[in-house]
Amino acid sequence: MATSTPPPDPAEQDARPYAVVVVRTDLTRRVTAVEQTVDPEDEDHLARAFHYSIPPALLGRLRPGHLVWVPFGPRTLQGVVVDLDERSPVEETRDVERLADPAPVLRPEHLELARWISDHYLAPIHRVIEAMLPPGVTQDVDTVVEAAAGARSEGLTEGQVALLEILRRQGPLTYRQMARLSPVKSWRAMLKAMIDRGVVTRTSVARPPSVRPKLVPAVRLREDLAAEEWPSERAISQRKALEYFTAREDREWIALQEAARDAGVGAYALHSLVEKGLLEMTRRQVWRDPLADQTFVPAIAPRLTPEQEVAWQAIRADLEGPERHTFLLQGVTGSGKTEIYLRAVKHALAQGRTAIVLVPEIALTPQTIRRFGARFPSTLAVMHSRLSDGERYDQWCQMRAGDLRVVVGSRSAIFSPLENLGLIVLDEEHEWSYKQDQTPRYHAREVALFLAERTGATCVLGSATPSLESAYRADRGEFVRLAMPRRVMGHRRAVEEQAARIQVTQRQYRAAGDAAREALYAELPPVEVVDMRVELRQGNTGILSQTLQEALQRTLALRQQAILFLNRRGTNTFVMCRDCGYVVPCPRCDVPYTYHASVKRLICHHCAGEIEPPTVCPECGSSRIKYFGAGTERVEQVVRQRYPAARVVRWDLDTTGGKQSHEEILDRFIHGEADVMIGTQMIAKGLDLPKVTLVGVVSADTEINLPDFRAGERTFQLLTQVAGRAGRSVLGGRVVVQTYAPAHPAIQAASRHDYRAFYEQEIAFRRTHWYPPLSRLARLTYVHPSEEQVREETGNLHRILKERIARLGLPETDLIGPAPAFFGRLRGRHRWHLLVRGADPTVLLRDLRLPLGWRVDVDPQSLL
Ligand code: ADP
Ligand code: ZN
Ligand code: ZN
Repeated sequence: MATSTPPPDPAEQDARPYAVVVVRTDLTRRVTAVEQTVDPEDEDHLARAFHYSIPPALLGRLRPGHLVWVPFGPRTLQGVVVDLDERSPVEETRDVERLADPAPVLRPEHLELARWISDHYLAPIHRVIEAMLPPGVTQDVDTVVEAAAGARSEGLTEGQVALLEILRRQGPLTYRQMARLSPVKSWRAMLKAMIDRGVVTRTSVARPPSVRPKLVPAVRLREDLAAEEWPSERAISQRKALEYFTAREDREWIALQEAARDAGVGAYALHSLVEKGLLEMTRRQVWRDPLADQTFVPAIAPRLTPEQEVAWQAIRADLEGPERHTFLLQGVTGSGKTEIYLRAVKHALAQGRTAIVLVPEIALTPQTIRRFGARFPSTLAVMHSRLSDGERYDQWCQMRAGDLRVVVGSRSAIFSPLENLGLIVLDEEHEWSYKQDQTPRYHAREVALFLAERTGATCVLGSATPSLESAYRADRGEFVRLAMPRRVMGHRRAVEEQAARIQVTQRQYRAAGDAAREALYAELPPVEVVDMRVELRQGNTGILSQTLQEALQRTLALRQQAILFLNRRGTNTFVMCRDCGYVVPCPRCDVPYTYHASVKRLICHHCAGEIEPPTVCPECGSSRIKYFGAGTERVEQVVRQRYPAARVVRWDLDTTGGKQSHEEILDRFIHGEADVMIGTQMIAKGLDLPKVTLVGVVSADTEINLPDFRAGERTFQLLTQVAGRAGRSVLGGRVVVQTYAPAHPAIQAASRHDYRAFYEQEIAFRRTHWYPPLSRLARLTYVHPSEEQVREETGNLHRILKERIARLGLPETDLIGPAPAFFGRLRGRHRWHLLVRGADPTVLLRDLRLPLGWRVDVDPQSLL
C-alpha cells in the first residue's frame, strides 16, 4: 500500500508567473449589423480574461479569486484573478499592480460557478462576477482628462479650442463632468482626436468605495500604568472608570460607548482619561447588523409529524451519506416544510458545514427571519433588498470570515461566500422571482443545483406547487420527491383550547399519526368554483357573484376576515365570449390572441399571426363578446358600496409604494383592524392569517388568457397559493373562485387541490407543443423607438439564424416569431421578440455577436 503524502498547500506552492484576470469593464463592441460568424481566433466574448505578469512581491501569494488593480489601456481598473498560468498567449504582458483586498473575494467554486453562468446564460463573465459580489466590494474608476503641459491650440478646430479652454480653466475633469460642461454634443470625438495628438492627456482615478467600513472609537488601559498616575479623589467618575478597566480580565479594545455604559460613567470621563494618557484610543471596525434590533426568543424544535419524519429522515441520510441528491419537497402550504428546513440547517451546522436558505423576496418578512433567528441566533446572516449597502457588505464580510454560517436571503444570497457548504434550500422553488431579469439572467434554482453539485451540498427544493420543470425532473428520477400532503394546524393542546374557547363544534382537524403525537392536521379548505356565465344569465352583471356576496355577508356577520384576490395583470387585453367563456386562441401557438386597440385586431404574441376580432362567438354564436379587465380599485368600490360597515384595506403595488405602508396595511389586517383585504398576487405569498375564513378569487381568468404557454401553470399556482390563505385555524375556511372558464383544467385541479391532475394535463400540453420542460427556449428581444427598425432588425436576425440552423445541421432547433412582445411598447420603444427552441438553444447563439439593442434570455420565465 502506498503511503499518502499530504497534498501541498496550493496557496504556498503556486508560483505560476501569470495571472488571468477578468477586468471590470464593458468591452461591448458597437456592431451595427449582425455578424454572421466569429473567427474562433477572435477573442471570446464570454470569457474576456487577460494575462498579466505577477510582480515578485505578489508571486506565490496571488490566488484565483483575488481582486486586483491592473493597467488596462490608459487606465487602471479592478479585476478578478480567475486563474494562474505557466505562460501567456501574448508576448508582452503588463504587471498586476496590487491587491485590492488581501483576502480573495470569490471562492474557487464560485469562480467555476461564474464560468458556468456565463456560458449557460450567454452573459459576459465580468457581469456575472459583478452580480456575485455585494456593492462596496469593487471600486469604480473615472477617466480623467486634462490639458497636456504646454498644449498648444495650433491646428485645432474651433470646438476643440473651446474644449481645451474649459480644461485649462476647470482643471482635470472626469468624463461625466465633461459631459455636463461641454457646449457641444460631439465632445467625445473631439477629445479623442486631441488625446491622439497629445494635446490632452487621459488618466484614471478610482472613485471612493461606495461602502466604507463602519468605525467607532475604542479604548483600552495603557499597558504600563503606575498607581501614582491615577487621577485625584475629586475625579470620581474617572477613578470609577479606571477601576472598571483594571478589573477587566483582558486588555482588548472595547468600544468607547460600551465601556462607558459598563463602567457606569459618562463618555466624557473616558475622553479625559485618554487626554491624560491613561487610556489608549483607536478606531475599530464594527459590523452593521441588520438583526441588531431584533431579540430572538430561542425556540425548541417541535416533534415532527409522521409525514415530516419520513421527509426528514431522507434528507438527514443524504446529509450524512456519501452521495448527494436533490430533493423536491412537495408539501401543501402549512404542511411544515419550513420546520424541515430548520432541522436540515441545524444538522448541517452540527457537521461543521454551512447553509443557504433562499426565500422569495416578498416572503422574506420579519416573521420568516424571526423563525430562523430563534433557532440560529448567533450565526444567522440575512440578505435582501431592504438592507442598506453597508449592512449587505458587512454581512458578506462576516460570512467570508466564517463568523456567520447560515444565510436566509433572496435570489442573490445564493452567491454568499460560505465555506464548506452543506445545504442549499430553495423555498417556493416555482417562484418566478428566482429568475434575474437583467444580465446575467440566471435562475437561482439552476445556480443552486450547480453549486450543490460542486460543493457536495444537499439541495432541497420546496413548494406546494412545483414548477413543471422540477416536477418533470422528479418524474424522471433526477430529483427525489418527498410528499407532505397534509397541513399542520399546530400543537394539540393549543388547538383544542382555542376550539373550546370559540366554541367550534365541527372538527376541522384530526390527529397527525398516533395519539401521542402533539401536532394536529387541518383539512384543506373546500373550494367552490362559481360559473360567471350562469350569473350573467341570471341577470347579475356585477363583479361579485351571488355565492361570493353571501359568503362575504356571513363572514362579516361572524366577525371573521376575508381576502378578495384579483390579479390585475393583463387588464383589458383579451377577448372572451360572456356566454360560453370562449377565448380565441392562435391556431399555431395555442395561446390567446391579444387585442390591440390601436389597430383593432387580435394579434398572437408568439408568432405574430393576426385576425379581425370576431363579432360573434366562433364557438356558440353569441354576440356578447367582451374585452376583459377590472382592477382591484373597482373591487374595492363595489365592496365599500355593498358593505358600508365593513372595514376594507387594499394591498397592491399602487397602495404599497413605500416599504412602510406595505407592512402597515398588513399589520392593520393581522391585528383585526380591517375585515376585508383586497389585493393582487402579492397577498398570495407566505402569510399566516388564522382569522381569515374566506378567500374570494374575483377572477381566475386574467392569467389564463395571457399569451404565454405558462399561463395555465401560473393560474394553478396562484389559485393554490391563494386558497392556502384560508382556513389556517380551528375556524376552518372556504374558498370561492369566480371564472368564465370553470372547466379549465388548471381551475378544476386547483379547486380539488390536485397537483397531480394539473401536472398530467399540463405536461401533455407541453409535449404536444414542444414547450419546456420538453424543450428549452432562448428569447431574443429587440427594443428600438422605430417600429420599422425593429421589424427590419428582427427579420434580419431571423434570416441569419435560420441559415445558421441549416449550416450547423441543427434539425432539432426551430425559431418562433419574430413577433411583438406582449408588452409591445415600453417607454416609447417597440419591443419584439424571437424564440429559439431546441434541446439546447444556446448552441445556435453561443458564438454569435449581437448588435446593441438585443437582449438574450436563456430559459426565460416569461414570454410577455
Ligand atoms: P410550510 O413551510 O409548509 O408552510 P410551516 O413549517 O410554516 O409550513 O408550518 C406551518 C405551521 O405549523 C407553523 O406554525 C409551524 O410552527 C407549525 N408546525 C410545523 N410542524 C409542526 C409540528 N411537527 N408540530 C407542531 N407544529 C408544527
Ligand atoms: Zn360563446
Ligand atoms: Zn401564434
